[in-house]
Amino acid sequence: MTRVESLRALMDERGVEAMLIQKSENRRYLTGFTGSAGFVLITAREALLLVDFRYVEQAGAEASGVEVLKADRQFLDTLAELVPARGLQRLGFESDGLTYKQYDDFSKRLAPATFVPIDGVDRLRWVKDRDEIERITRAVEIADRAFAHIRTLLRPGMVEREIALEMEFFMRRNGAEKEAFETIVAGGPRSALPHGRASDRVLAEGDLVTLDFGAVVRGYVSDCTRTVVLTEASRKHEEIYGIVLRAQQAALAGIKPGMTGKEADALARTVITEAGYGEAFGHSLGHGVGLAVHEGPTLSPREEAVLAQGMVVTVEPGIYLPGWGGVRIEDLVVITAEGCRSLTRAPKELLVL
Ligand code: ZN
Ligand code: ZN
Repeated sequence: MTRVESLRALMDERGVEAMLIQKSENRRYLTGFTGSAGFVLITAREALLLVDFRYVEQAGAEASGVEVLKADRQFLDTLAELVPARGLQRLGFESDGLTYKQYDDFSKRLAPATFVPIDGVDRLRWVKDRDEIERITRAVEIADRAFAHIRTLLRPGMVEREIALEMEFFMRRNGAEKEAFETIVAGGPRSALPHGRASDRVLAEGDLVTLDFGAVVRGYVSDCTRTVVLTEASRKHEEIYGIVLRAQQAALAGIKPGMTGKEADALARTVITEAGYGEAFGHSLGHGVGLAVHEGPTLSPREEAVLAQGMVVTVEPGIYLPGWGGVRIEDLVVITAEGCRSLTRAPKELLVL
């Protein structure tokens, strides 16, 4: 099935005759168009990409499998012609895509057609095809090289922000379109912040340093975390690092298609809880990655969704102890026919730099 056909199957299942897509990742996924604005209108027979003046030429060059229409900048004027002309009665929209104001304007203006919230469009992106896995793999390779580069430079006296900038610069110079998200560099007690953005803090001897970074290649992202220690590792550094690493290895060995996100999460969480640090692992084990850095499925204690071959997810257990520091190790894996395969190659033993 093509991507548009998969969306049509979802439309049938939810009882809508047409679907209006606005979220940028879904717009790109369905059409190939990378611009920042536009709507995709899918009906049983047609696939239309509505863009304004700024994007007509670009959409013509990038989009495939859809007819490109030049629309009014407000889009609603154009939709108010297209929808009644096709006699559409029930029109689906992404429930997490429109603002409340858009919803209000659209439903008034497109009446008597009813406007039906649909969830699950993002889910069409969960299983990746070969081309998508190739792009993600390339993004992982660039990030792995950035880590190999930065570990030769990391030392006490460096500023967190300087390290983040160097990694981002390296990734761009080596083929990344940009960084996948704001690079996290958190040293010393700041490493206890799971999402500690790079600050002006100067790294010191004995610091744990958490680096969380990724690259974008042709729209697809990578996501990797490594934690290193500067100058010398204490017994406690080794103990905590060892627990997180064992938790991650248990998950990598056990994750397989057919299990739920909840079961996958438990593989690592059990190890950390049994070591006495369950309370210090306050986030999910992982999340899907693709056109977005955080997409489904999640590997979390609440996730009932079942893992399937071709999904790409992170595996990132962590332990965070306020005032002391934190350790997280994050790899990106593809779910295979029998288990999972790690794309990340960056070393995982505790590096003392
Ligand atoms: Zn990450
Ligand atoms: Zn992540």
